[in-house]
Formats: sequence, C-alpha cells, structure tokens
Amino acid sequence: MIDTRLSDPKLNDEQGRVLALQRYQILDTPREAPFDRIAGLVKAVMQVPIAIISLIDSERQWFKSCIGMGDTTETTREVSFCTHTIQAREPLYIPDARLDPRFATNPLVTGAPFIRSYVGVPLCTPDGYNVGSLCAIDTIPREYTPSQIEVLKSFAALAAEELELRRVAQIDFVTGAATRRGFTVEVDKAIARYGRYARSSALLVLDLDHFKKVNDTWGHAAGDAVLRAVGAKLNALLRATDVLGRLGGEEFGILLAEATLRDASRSAERFRKAIEAIEIENDPPIKVTASFGISAIGPEHATADQWLAEADLALYAAKRGGRNRSCIAPSSAETQLSRPA
Ligand code: GH3
Ligand code: MG
Ligand code: MG
Repeated sequence: MIDTRLSDPKLNDEQGRVLALQRYQILDTPREAPFDRIAGLVKAVMQVPIAIISLIDSERQWFKSCIGMGDTTETTREVSFCTHTIQAREPLYIPDARLDPRFATNPLVTGAPFIRSYVGVPLCTPDGYNVGSLCAIDTIPREYTPSQIEVLKSFAALAAEELELRRVAQIDFVTGAATRRGFTVEVDKAIARYGRYARSSALLVLDLDHFKKVNDTWGHAAGDAVLRAVGAKLNALLRATDVLGRLGGEEFGILLAEATLRDASRSAERFRKAIEAIEIENDPPIKVTASFGISAIGPEHATADQWLAEADLALYAAKRGGRNRSCIAPSSAETQLSRPA
C-alpha cells in the first residue's frame, strides 16, 4: 500500500492544519442551519441513524452538527474515527468496525453508540488541509455502493464550501473592515470578557455626514473611494487589539479593547479629525466628516445588538447636534459618574 502522506506533505503538517482550522473560528460556536441541513440530508440519503460534521482540533473532535448521538458535542481524539479520515484524501470506509484492528476495541464500538459501519469524507480547505470530516455511521455492518460514497463526497464538498463562505463573509472587501457579522462576533467576545474577567472596552459607531451628497455630486465610484480612504485611515490608527467593522453602507463600528470612557472619547476625537483631514483627489478635492456615538461597556449590555443600539442612540444625538462631532451614550455617562473615585 502506498503511504500518501509521504507524497502529500500537508497531510503531515499538523501545526498548519490546526492553524487552518482556527482561521474558521468555528469551534464551540452554536448550531447553524446550513450544517444541520447537510447532516440531515446525509442521514436521509444514506439511511443511517447517525450523521456528523466533525472538526478535528489538536486534542479533541468537536461536532458542528451531530444527528443521532444525543447531546454529544465532542469526544477525545483517541476514540475518534474521523481522526483517521483526515489522514488521507480519499474517504475512509469501514464496513464492520469489529473486524478492523484499528477500531475493534474502540469504546464507541464496544459500548454506546455501538458503531459498526463508518464512512467519512475529509473536509478539505482550499489550501489543502483536512480540518474535519463528514461522516455517516450505522450500528449495523453496512455495504455502501460507490455512487453512495460519491454522494457523501459531494455533501462534504458542500460543507467545506460553507466553512469558507462563513470565513470570507467576515471581511468587507471595499474597506478591509470586518463585516457586520464579523464585528458582532468580536463585540460578543468583548461582552463575555467583561462578564468573566471585568475587562473594560468601549464601542464607537460612526456614520459619514451627508454622504448621499458625495454620491450625488461626484458619483458612486467617488463615494466608494471615500469609503476605502476612511477604512484605510481608521485601520492605520487602530491598535492591533482594536476591531474595525463596516456595519452598513457608510456606517462603521470600532471596538476599543481595554478602553475606558475617557480613552474612547479621546480616540473618537482623534478619528474624527483624521477623517476630516482626508482629501480625495478631485478638483476640488472631496472632503467628508463623520459623527460618532460612544458607549463604554456596562452590565446592561447583555448582547452585541443591545450595546450597538445604545451607541447608535448617541450617534443620532451627534447628528441632531449638528454632525462632525461625538456624543456619549447616556448610560455610559451614568456608569462613569457612579464609579467610586
Ligand atoms: P447623514 O449625515 O444624516 O448620515 O446623511 P447621509 O446622506 O450620509 O445619510 P443617508 O442614510 O441619507 O445616506 C447614506 C448614503 O450612503 C446613501 C447611499 O447611497 C450611500 N451609500 C451606502 N453604501 C454605499 C456604498 O457602498 N458606496 C457608495 N458610494 N455609497 C454608499
Ligand atoms: Mg450618513
Ligand atoms: Mg448612514
């Protein structure tokens, strides 16, 4: 038998493989419909009781979707069949696990759920790393036809594409900022850090002033150039731990790690001046301004949406107050005032 791992170095590059998995930021995330749908189809089409989309972390396998194994969300790698699947490019097909020396004494074979047959297809990234597997499991020995295995391969390709789409959609290509979805994930993490370790952070939302007029006067392409310039300027000013997100058309969010209300107010003023100073080549040069809403994290911010909504209120106040200025959200001001000296 030819050992494909010798001629296919990425199959041996465990460190690169784990980094490729981390890129997806998917471990320990909630269930998501596209993955459950694929697992559901595998169950129905292959007529198996168990279908799993498993991601292989360094020490464990974690299930993004798992049908037919109760509430199980992960197992150690030692007992994992999928750990073997990701060591090859082709599907791993075991008609009867009791007859296979690699699995005969596996606790998932000798005990619940009493796995007998297994067929798993690796989930491969575009750069060639097997980060997980899609598998169909039965509690009786099974023979599968080549066409059934081909169907499973197609479903695995779909699951791998879904992982990629999910990753790609986190970055906005015009501005280089995180998408609203990507940004929201980071805001939720900041809320969790506050809840667990009382780590402070602050949220800015900013919206370009009279941007419609820029488009109407100079055209949509010029408007896009302004958005790119604003994204680049903000990115250049942020620290590595801060996050920039494009929340909508010409609205951005900035998550400032470890920032107090005072830090956030200073940062907003710096960003406001930097945007005011941008000149987009034209005759005369195009100039824009932005309004800012500021909110420091507090116990009342249970979700990203709540916190963003509060920063938005401050942004509206800045717009009403005449634009090209920043306003602090009322509850942040109270939090600050009620803090002991
Ligand atoms: P305000 O100061 O109240 O924010 O006024 P505004 O004109 O900026 O606000 P409004 O929401 O009325 O208009 C936002 C405009 O932004 C409308 C839309 O054409 C433009 N816009 C949104 N996304 C893009 C984009 O990706 N590119 C360009 N060029 N324009 C965009
Ligand atoms: Mg605007
Ligand atoms: Mg707007």
